[in-house]
Amino acid sequence: SARIEIAGVSKSYDGATRAVDAIDMTIEPGEFFSLLGPSGCGKTTTLRMIAGFEMPSEGIIRVGGADITRVPAHKRDMGMVFQNYALFPHRTVRENVAFGLRMRGLARAAIAKKVDEALAMVALTGFEDRMPGQLSGGQQQRVALARAIVIEPRVLLCDEPLGALDKKLRQSMQFELKQLQKKLGVTLVFVTHDQEEALAMSDRIAVLSRGKIEQVGTPVEIYDRP
Ligand code: ADP
Ligand code: ADP
Repeated sequence: SARIEIAGVSKSYDGATRAVDAIDMTIEPGEFFSLLGPSGCGKTTTLRMIAGFEMPSEGIIRVGGADITRVPAHKRDMGMVFQNYALFPHRTVRENVAFGLRMRGLARAAIAKKVDEALAMVALTGFEDRMPGQLSGGQQQRVALARAIVIEPRVLLCDEPLGALDKKLRQSMQFELKQLQKKLGVTLVFVTHDQEEALAMSDRIAVLSRGKIEQVGTPVEIYDRP
């Protein structure tokens, strides 16, 4: 698991308005860290810059000490989970989870073992040969999670991963995700607009507003803010 250092980072898509405006923060190794704020405040942009998908217009993001824009994509070692799952619809659960390992050129037997382990961790043993369309939303998101963790990432980036689930399922998935993160010890950055969710899950939270950080703190500190 890796430290993420964000220093003086701004992002402007059109050269004028800043989607992200001069943010500074450090996310510690193994921390469950949430980016919280309303739609349009810059959460996804920040996450995409940490992933190396977007270049900051200003400033630098270091992951494990290295400027992420200079790390080749296949060496970034990050897992990503999205609200819409983003599974390959015409591939089985097993193939979806194996995808990142195939890309890395692992041997067939090693892939099979790691896929089995990842599916066991998200309680989906026995679902290997299903297609995503044959699974519930919660199950699909657990496949997406298995696909993200199977590469043993240094960082797990989650963009509203529970946003499509109904309230009851959402609460049990919050618990599962938090348990899994602590077990793996992976640094996790979690995007949400739901304060209750951020308070329930996070070690620390950054509250964003119009591209700026309003406050960073533990759930207790954020909840008690004036
Ligand atoms: P959030 O994730 O908090 O909803 P985003 O990071 O998606 O916020 O968006 C922040 C701002 O940047 C918004 O005003 C949005 O319209 C703008 N924005 C996001 N992506 C793009 C893009 N690819 N091109 C232009 N503007 C964008
Ligand atoms: P295929 O069309 O070969 O059966 P799938 O339908 O399983 O592939 O995959 C869904 C889509 O995801 C395809 O358009 C495929 O090209 C695309 N895809 C494959 N690998 C990646 C990847 N690493 N990142 C994003 N999209 C990918």
